[in-house]
Amino acid sequence: MSKDIYDVIIIGGGPAGLSAGIYSARYGLKTLIISDGVIGGNMAIAHDIGNYPGFESIKGMELSERMKKQAEKHDVEILMASVKKFEKTDNHFKVFTTGKEIIGKKLILAFGTKHRKLDIEREEEFLGKGLSYCATCDGAFFRNKTVAVIGGGDSAFDAVMLLSDIAKKVYLIHRREGFRTEAFKINKAKAKKNVEFMLNSVIDGILGKDFVEGIKVRNVKSDKVENIKLDGLFVEIGSVPLTVLAGELGIKLEGELIKVGGRQETNIDGVFAAGDSTTGSSGFRQIVTACSEGAVAAYSIYKEQE
Ligand code: NDP
Repeated sequence: MSKDIYDVIIIGGGPAGLSAGIYSARYGLKTLIISDGVIGGNMAIAHDIGNYPGFESIKGMELSERMKKQAEKHDVEILMASVKKFEKTDNHFKVFTTGKEIIGKKLILAFGTKHRKLDIEREEEFLGKGLSYCATCDGAFFRNKTVAVIGGGDSAFDAVMLLSDIAKKVYLIHRREGFRTEAFKINKAKAKKNVEFMLNSVIDGILGKDFVEGIKVRNVKSDKVENIKLDGLFVEIGSVPLTVLAGELGIKLEGELIKVGGRQETNIDGVFAAGDSTTGSSGFRQIVTACSEGAVAAYSIYKEQE
């Protein structure tokens, strides 16, 4: 067999992809990870990770670097490139990146997700002009300013905690009263003096000439609308799985997610999937579950080759 044929090609360099790479290489499989963004994916931009076992608190970038180093130590190759398309031949897969054709026996799709947008008027126009989808990346620009975070999940609460240490005032604006995060995080945010919760509230518009100057907030219970002056708006309302390429191989989706079985297998023989873009782990999107799915996918491939 040509040494240019990989046993396993992993698409995606987030925790699922990196974990799959570490396991796959340790099983002795020739492994390539292809990543088109920063290694670590969404994990890399996490400000403070406090629920990955073994680390009471670790920056996302540091955890990403550690996983990358561990993968490289086991001879996983990492190619920074964008995958353009796939092809299935009789017993191999061809993966096309810009200017390169790579052949592998098995694929693990670890595509991850991208930020969900509010889909309101002027959202695109204000991007980078006071509107951000990443508090870790842009929070520092708002020292002693007034900002709002939209959302009620882990990302929103992580953003609130980060921004409350930088900004003068932080509004948490959420469309209902219940949250999708740990009580631990909610209590920490509530204890912050400069954080104000605005619940049952949605944004009807973004105000400003060239930069964000405020928002129009409507209480969905009373229908009362008020304008709030702001310097920054952080949209942290979840993510959309990146599964566009899955269609090329005829991979079955369930809703927006790649449908996987207990071995992380897809409906296509030889193609496995792991992480936030799959139906695995009961939809619980965590670093630890992404890592677990990556490990299971690599183990399943190893078992098939035994
Ligand atoms: P989630 O999908 O968990 O939460 C999104 C939040 O935004 C929900 O509260 C939702 O409201 C709200 N929302 C969704 N769409 C809109 C909209 N159009 N307008 C207003 N509000 C909206 O996304 P997250 O990014 O918080 O988390 C994604 C996944 O990643 C989760 O599984 C999460 O657990 C995980 N994660 C884990 C972290 C950690 O453990 N440290 C850190 C970050 C993410 P509603 O509740 O009403 O649906």
